[in-house]
Amino acid sequence: MFIDSHCHINFPELAARMPEILGKMAENKVSHALCVSVDLPDFPSVLELAERYPHIYASVGVHPDYEDTPEPSVEDLIRLSEHPKIVAIGETGLDYYRLEGDLEWQRERFRRHIRASRATGKPLIIHTRAASEDTIRIMREEGAGTDAGGAAGVMHCFTESLEVARAAMEMGFYISFSGIVTFKSAKDLQAVAREVPLEQMLIETDSPYLAPVPFRGKVNEPALVRHVGEYLATLKDVPLEQLAKQTSDNFFNLFKIAR
Ligand SMILES: [Zn+2]
Ligand SMILES: [Zn+2]
Repeated sequence: MFIDSHCHINFPELAARMPEILGKMAENKVSHALCVSVDLPDFPSVLELAERYPHIYASVGVHPDYEDTPEPSVEDLIRLSEHPKIVAIGETGLDYYRLEGDLEWQRERFRRHIRASRATGKPLIIHTRAASEDTIRIMREEGAGTDAGGAAGVMHCFTESLEVARAAMEMGFYISFSGIVTFKSAKDLQAVAREVPLEQMLIETDSPYLAPVPFRGKVNEPALVRHVGEYLATLKDVPLEQLAKQTSDNFFNLFKIAR
């Protein structure tokens, strides 16, 4: 069994095909998926999927790339996460690649998500791109992972260095690999994945984006997380069963989901 720890199946291109998406998950032994919130107007569609399907979970948060969108207060995040199927705060973090200029608002937004995580004990889903130094600094300054009952969170769709992975793992964070790790050009990331212990690893699709090889360039979906798992098992030279079981156990532990 594989678990897609990060997807956006509420986005229209996937939501319109939900019966097919769920059928393909079953065919590919993908037992659960976490549908991740990117802004507050989108949140009801994320929650609705989690309420409708027992094996779909959800998060609440506002993505750093969303500039013209209602800004969540710490209280908003705490209130919206008070639902048994909302298992995480995010996605949040910093992205200096997509946006330029004064991004203090991004850092402030990130800090509020960390405070909500500490207040609720729900783990963080962190997105970081071209901003790893500030991301780690703010995580430390805000005590990300502390007070959260050991459930710190996950560095999702990880593409940074081993040094950044280690800094996050020291704070109790898991490292999640997406289809990017299967790309021929991703030699540096593959070297990082070799070093990240299975016990601190998750797998994800970030669908509808970033389909793994051999589906690169196509619309991604949770069923394809199997290919991320297969690639990593080969890369790390461990039996596929072991990688699937460990990453699934990690998912249930991190998001405190009873089986
Ligand atoms: Zn992201
Ligand atoms: Zn995402």
